[in-house]
Amino acid sequence: MPDKITVAGVPVDTRHWIGGRRVASGDTFTDVSPIDGSVLGEISRGTPAEAAAAVAAAKAAFPAWAATSRAERARILHAVADGVDKRLEELAVVETTDNGALLRSHRRGVMPRVAHNFRFFADWLLTLEHEDFETRGHRNHVSWDPAGPSVLITPWNAPLMLATWKVAPALAAGNTVVLKPAEWSPLTASLLADIAAAAGLPAGVLNVVQGYGSEIGDALTSHPDVRRISFTGSVPTARRIAASAATQLTPLSLELGGKSPLLVFADADLDLAVDLAVEQYDNAGQVCLAATRLLVQESIAEEFTRRFVEKASRLTQGDPRDEATDIGPTIHPRQLEKIDGFVRRATAAGARAVIGGHAEDGRYYAPTLLTDVAQDSEIVQEEVFGPVLTLQTFTTEEEGVRLANDTRFGLAATVATGDRARADRVTDRLVAGTVWVNCFFVRDLQAPFGGSRLSGVGREGGTWSFDFYCDLKNTVTAPEGWQDHG
Ligand code: NAD
Repeated sequence: MPDKITVAGVPVDTRHWIGGRRVASGDTFTDVSPIDGSVLGEISRGTPAEAAAAVAAAKAAFPAWAATSRAERARILHAVADGVDKRLEELAVVETTDNGALLRSHRRGVMPRVAHNFRFFADWLLTLEHEDFETRGHRNHVSWDPAGPSVLITPWNAPLMLATWKVAPALAAGNTVVLKPAEWSPLTASLLADIAAAAGLPAGVLNVVQGYGSEIGDALTSHPDVRRISFTGSVPTARRIAASAATQLTPLSLELGGKSPLLVFADADLDLAVDLAVEQYDNAGQVCLAATRLLVQESIAEEFTRRFVEKASRLTQGDPRDEATDIGPTIHPRQLEKIDGFVRRATAAGARAVIGGHAEDGRYYAPTLLTDVAQDSEIVQEEVFGPVLTLQTFTTEEEGVRLANDTRFGLAATVATGDRARADRVTDRLVAGTVWVNCFFVRDLQAPFGGSRLSGVGREGGTWSFDFYCDLKNTVTAPEGWQDHG
């Protein structure tokens, strides 16, 4: 197998990155582009041996990295951000080729945010401070001590964005990292390893292991030398990881799925509400935060639906490299089958497809809106992770909030209303890690991010990230006992 493949003109190493060296496995897995099914290359298929080697490398590099000053860590992370910026176009085209999300989004939104992830956590590190306080004359001093090797496991829907949202704070915190990207989108993690090395990140501080979670996940998550596990992905995988981490009681951060509501009240700016609803088809619906349940007040439901259909029908689906495309392919034919299964079971149970309801071909699923769905049905309760929205109506605010909260998830919620008092009342009662009012996807890295209920465990962002990746220590110093009496 070649050590390097060329993807959209960019050379990408197909091996792991362990202890500052490229390491190949005996076996490989095939990486395929969701755009047209073309084979991109053969990628090293990690085994528990490589997983253990990566943890060993992270363990060996930890003492020196943890002892590196905050200013020096921040300087290197800024250099990584500069490296991302320098290779922004390459990262964008490789990511689009690998996971099928829009090239224009990668160019203008996602990859600049990847660089920002490093800059933000580097700068936040330098401000991290808790004011000392006194207890009966004793000084309390809180410090954030680096915790140790951290295993970061990420999904395919926003590969480098979600990976660096973990890598950056973990490194800033003084931890060393083993990153395990998703097997459907392994390429940009390999480029990140090159960028980090070129930026001067010492060997072993960032390691990348490729492969199937089912084959190497356990070796990573049950390892006694791993001090933190941060996972973004599905609920069933989270359960397996939590069980595996339980052997060492390793602290976990879990960012999981969602079935978020968009509540549209009759007093809302209807055009804005329709824009917000149609936006939920972004990335072909493969967004954990997507508000896939449209809950619309009865009195405006007909007009809302008319305008929604008009706007959604103008969306262009096709090649994500084309600037004019709004919706690209589904990541994998298996995912498309899963989506189609959800829709077929829903329509068999009486749901009506107002638009879509079918695959365009083996890779592209048509944007779909389903009505006549029951609150306790699978299509309303389970995450589809495709361009499939449901529309239900409600009459009173009370009923709207009840429907919004009535799933096992609690990742996000969006509210469209023109009434500030209503917005306050409703947001107070919504169960969600993030609530947007008359907007969507506005995210600041200093805000806590995570989910309630089955949508996750813990919060990351700003100081919350350092709270997770560090061992917090309180040092209590007595006023007496000094020999120097100074
Ligand atoms: P997934 O759970 O199938 O896989 C995620 C990662 O876990 C992959 O890298 C995979 O290889 C790895 N994995 C699989 N089995 C493992 C095991 N036994 N041990 C360790 N690792 C293992 O999820 P996916 O299909 O890649 O991603 C889609 C899911 O991710 C959706 O549910 C989506 O909502 C969720 N998601 C959540 C957020 C968030 O921030 N809350 C963001 C994006 C995606």
